[in-house]
Amino acid sequence: MFDALAERLESAWKTLRGQDKISESNVQEALREVRRALLEADVNLQVVKDFVAEVQTKALGEEVVAGVRPDQQFIKLVYDELVSVMGETNIPLAEASPAPTVILMAGLQGTGKTTATAKLALHLRKENRSTLLVATDVYRPAAIDQLVTLGKQIEVPVFELGKDADPVEIARQGVERARAEGINTVIIDTAGRLQIDQNMMSELARIKETIQPHETLLVVDAMTGQEAASLTRTFHDQIGITGAILTKMDGDTRGGAALSVRRISGQPIKFIGVGEKVDALQPFYPDRMASRILG
Ligand code: GDP
Repeated sequence: MFDALAERLESAWKTLRGQDKISESNVQEALREVRRALLEADVNLQVVKDFVAEVQTKALGEEVVAGVRPDQQFIKLVYDELVSVMGETNIPLAEASPAPTVILMAGLQGTGKTTATAKLALHLRKENRSTLLVATDVYRPAAIDQLVTLGKQIEVPVFELGKDADPVEIARQGVERARAEGINTVIIDTAGRLQIDQNMMSELARIKETIQPHETLLVVDAMTGQEAASLTRTFHDQIGITGAILTKMDGDTRGGAALSVRRISGQPIKFIGVGEKVDALQPFYPDRMASRILG
C-alpha cells in the first residue's frame, strides 16, 4: 500500500536506519514528500500546510517501534492522520422522525447536482425509504425536464410547478406534499450557476430558512481540485452545510478535494459519485479515500 509515497520516502529515511528516534531532519525531508503527494492529489495549499504541520508535531519524538521500518511507521502516521481528519467512519444520512427527512442540494452548475439528487433517491429506495424529488431550478427549463426524466427512470415521483413559480414556494409545497403523502424523504434540487453568484446564494438561503432541511448537502466536483476549498468556504459561511457529495470520482482525480471540504467545513463527505449512471453512487469511506490520496 502507498507504494508511490513509500518510494518517495525511501531516500528520506536512508539515514535513519539504526536510530531509535525519528530525527528532525528525517521528518523535514519526509514531510516535503508528503506535501508534494498531497498537492499532486489536488488538496488545497493551505489545507496541506496545516495538515503537514500537525503530522510534524506528531512525528517528531515518536519512538521508532522495534521491528517496524521507520518509513512504514511514518506512512502509517500520515495515513492515520488523513483518516482522522476525514472523520474516521462513514456518516450516514440523517433520518428525521417524524418523516419526512428534508434534504437540500446545493452546488454550482455542472457539478452533478441533479444527477446526485436522483442517485440519492435510488440509494434511499434500496434502503426502503420512499422519496419525492422537487425541481426548483426554474431558470433553466431543461433542468426541470432533466429531473423529471431521471425520476421516471428510477420510478420516483418529481414535484414541480413549472418555470414561472417561485423556487421558495416550490420547495415549501414540495415538502408539504411529501408530508401529506407520508413520504420518507424529500430531496430538493436547486438552481446552480457556473460561478458563485449572490442571487443564487440568497435564494438558497431563503429556501433553507423556509423548509428547515435536516441535511444541506454541497455537491462538489472532485475534478475542481484546489477550488473545492473556496467553494466550500463560501457555501458553508453563507448557507451552512451538513455534508457533501463528491462527484466525478471515476475520473483520474486522486480526490484531494475530500480533505479540503472536510477540513474547511468540518462536515462529513457522505457519498461519492463514480459515474454518470443513476446507480453510480457510493458511501464515502475515509480510509479508502486516504489510500487513494496517498497514491
Ligand atoms: P448539475 O448542473 O450540477 O445539476 O449537473 P448534472 O447533474 O446535470 O451533471 C453534469 C454532468 O456531469 C452530466 O453530464 C452528468 O452525467 C455528469 N456527472 C454527474 N455526476 C457524475 C459522476 O459522478 N461521474 C461522471 N463521470 N460524470 C458525472
